[in-house]
Amino acid sequence: MGDGADGAHARGRARVVLLGPPGAGKGTQAQVLSQRLGVPAISTGDMLREAVAEGSDLGGKVQGIMASGALVDDATMAEVVRERLGKPDASEGFLLDGYPRTLPQAETLAGILGDAGLSLSAVLLVEVPEDELVRRTLLRSRADDREEVVRERLRVYREKTAPLIGYYGDRRLLRQINGNRPVESVTAQMLGVFGIEGTEGVVG
Ligand code: AMP
Repeated sequence: MGDGADGAHARGRARVVLLGPPGAGKGTQAQVLSQRLGVPAISTGDMLREAVAEGSDLGGKVQGIMASGALVDDATMAEVVRERLGKPDASEGFLLDGYPRTLPQAETLAGILGDAGLSLSAVLLVEVPEDELVRRTLLRSRADDREEVVRERLRVYREKTAPLIGYYGDRRLLRQINGNRPVESVTAQMLGVFGIEGTEGVVG
């Protein structure tokens, strides 16, 4: 393991992208991994929901888009992410949940990091079968979680985000994680990528 990553896996240095469809459990894992790796979890979905709640200009711009299950445009997201990654707490590493979601976003991220002489450590692809995704997402009750919106978000994932699997695979950054397992087992698989033991044994 570890080939293709940049070797900077020491605590507080991991620069990680969590990739996977809506409902795969990225948010849950991001919280735990953030603690274990000592880097901030950055969820662009949470940031946008906060902007909507605050009624900021950004919130006004994205509210309808989010409610429909579509993606916010790449230029807007580039601003959001550039600003967030420029904050001091992200300087030693980060865990991105929900960004990038398109190929242009992946290029933007590579550019932001490249300008700082940095690169990603790993991209963790959380894989879960589609019927399980729909079931899980409908168990949550968020405003954008009505079934037709859930299905739209899955369609958008397949069309716009799934190409990132090949993109990061080509760059030897992709690590596949079986997300159709108990939460602790998924965490253990992820920590294994960084050579850290989970609380539960291992990954089969
Ligand atoms: P999430 O909580 O990550 O599922 O994001 C919720 C919603 O926020 C998405 O359905 C999009 O409308 C929007 N969003 C979050 N992150 C992005 C992104 N990287 N690019 C475009 N839209 C995003």
